[in-house]
Amino acid sequence: MKNFDYLEPKTVAEACALLKQHGNDAKVYAGGAHLTILMKQGLLEPKSLINIKKIAELKGIRFDASEGLLIGALVTHRELETSALVKEKFPVLCEAEREVANIRVRNVGTVGGNLASGEPLTDLSQIFIALDGEVKITGATMLRLMPVEELFVDFYTTSLAEDEILTQVVLPPLPPHSGIDYIRFSSSSVVDKPSVGVAVRLTLDNGTDTIQTARVVLGCVGATPVRARDAEASMTGKKLTPQFAEEAGSVASQECSPTSDLRGSENYKRAIVKTLVKRAALKAYERAKEI
Ligand SMILES: Cc1cc2nc3c(=O)[nH]c(=O)nc-3n(C[C@H](O)[C@H](O)[C@H](O)COP(=O)(O)OP(=O)(O)OC[C@H]3O[C@@H](n4cnc5c(N)ncnc54)[C@H](O)[C@@H]3O)c2cc1C
Repeated sequence: MKNFDYLEPKTVAEACALLKQHGNDAKVYAGGAHLTILMKQGLLEPKSLINIKKIAELKGIRFDASEGLLIGALVTHRELETSALVKEKFPVLCEAEREVANIRVRNVGTVGGNLASGEPLTDLSQIFIALDGEVKITGATMLRLMPVEELFVDFYTTSLAEDEILTQVVLPPLPPHSGIDYIRFSSSSVVDKPSVGVAVRLTLDNGTDTIQTARVVLGCVGATPVRARDAEASMTGKKLTPQFAEEAGSVASQECSPTSDLRGSENYKRAIVKTLVKRAALKAYERAKEI
């Protein structure tokens, strides 16, 4: 690893000012789970590392009645997995986190780093998008709020500007009669990144079993997480049956761009998408009817 300057700002404003000052030569460092690997492999050689770990305003999980669940960028996978508040508001996140990586990565890797890396083989973004989540971003000169979906641009590329820090994930309260399920499939028997990850969220019309809003989000089958909008449309306005769920799965399997690699061929991954969308839709529907 090449030598680098190590900077430790105490506030987001200070961190953004440093990013602006150092430009392309600097990198934000959170848990380091992703960054350290790239630096050790010589794929990234920043002249300065800006460690944000001591910034208190980026920590913690809280619930605000109007905004929803607010997850600080520095919250680790493990904190999300074990938080009683998250379990109460969005148990799907705790369930998903149990399968993320391994305990070592979950102890250091942060939610902000997971999203800001733009890594395509991850889990959280699919769930956040299905929940209509947003991210708060602070730059040297402005603040912005954007849907999580718009953060992702390409493989390992996000819409964050050089001087910007992702500060918080905002998950709005779920409308009544909503259910969500996330299923990840890993083609390896050892702990591994997912090969396919599917989140389905369904919200029913008040007092009926008819689907009013559907979100189908596919992960690891393209450069970025993708909303399968035709699959969503195919379920909207219907009472879900196994046949409609299967049709939604077929439609979704054509709305992604998986690549053939060590985790499976393109056709194999499309078949997995089809099956997972069907299963997740039926489960989400069951959950929506319970509430
Ligand atoms: C072995 C292994 C297995 C894994 N398996 C999974 C898995 O199963 N599922 C899954 O979802 N993920 C998985 N991951 C990815 C892991 O979740 C992320 O690497 C981790 O969360 C990154 O967080 P970090 O804090 O360590 O980020 P860092 O490594 O510190 O940073 C990652 C990138 O994001 C930038 N960054 C970090 N925080 C911010 C911020 N707040 N604002 C702006 N930019 C920022 C950094 O500059 C860097 O470019 C795995 C990773 C490893 C190494």
